Amino acid sequence: MSGSTIIPWVVGNWKMNPLQANAEQLIHDLKQCFSQVEISAQSCHVGVAPVSIALLNVQDQLRGSMINTVAQDVSRIAGLGAYTGEVSAELLSDSGIQFVLVGHSERREIFSDTAEVVKEKVKNALSAGLTVIYCVGESLEQREKGHAEQVVLQQICDIAAIVQAEKWQKIIIAYEPIWAIGTGKTASPEDAQTMHAKIREGLSQITAEGKNIAILYGGSVKPENAVELAACPDIDGALVGGASLNAESFYQIAQAFAKTK
Ligand code: PEP
Repeated sequence: MSGSTIIPWVVGNWKMNPLQANAEQLIHDLKQCFSQVEISAQSCHVGVAPVSIALLNVQDQLRGSMINTVAQDVSRIAGLGAYTGEVSAELLSDSGIQFVLVGHSERREIFSDTAEVVKEKVKNALSAGLTVIYCVGESLEQREKGHAEQVVLQQICDIAAIVQAEKWQKIIIAYEPIWAIGTGKTASPEDAQTMHAKIREGLSQITAEGKNIAILYGGSVKPENAVELAACPDIDGALVGGASLNAESFYQIAQAFAKTK
């Protein structure tokens, strides 16, 4: 147990997975794992982010469990209207979804979500009352050039202008070095801690809430490295991709944070 008052968060990002039959099995297994008494919502917040077409079904099936349902993305357009294919923050909120990932590196890199677009998404999500898991992280090239901190702190600053003082409590940061996502490479706990401490310092300069904002680490987190990561004072949880598709692995990661923090 550390002295921090932040309850850790462990969130599984299912990305464009799995097929429905496998999702049914995964949800069944997750419910079974998380019904064990070792973890409670007081020791660790837990969420899973399914594909958008499965959000309501997953939410329904997880009702009564400690697992929250998280959207993987939100439209940069607010409200309702003629925007084919889009899902707005208001529609998410109207469906009872309270959490959303914004700025994941796959959105930024593959779908050209610029800093401006990401900012609009954060703004809309907050206006609709959602909690935003805001993803930041540097590329390998940026790290090798020694620009990692500057890139990440700039991504934090990008949203500073549009997050009103009272809304910082609705922000969770996920630091995900792009070179560690889905590659099996993890930042060393020391490197991750160093970046998390810098992020904490940056946030504290922006808002009095800085010390209370959860900063999650993401990038090939698995049961084998979760305990070490959880032991770092400024790592308040994990955003988990691949390993979240296995209920037992995901549970073990959550357990590591619940027990260590
Ligand atoms: C992610 O997609 O946010 C992620 C961290 O993926 P993985 O755990 O597979 O690296």
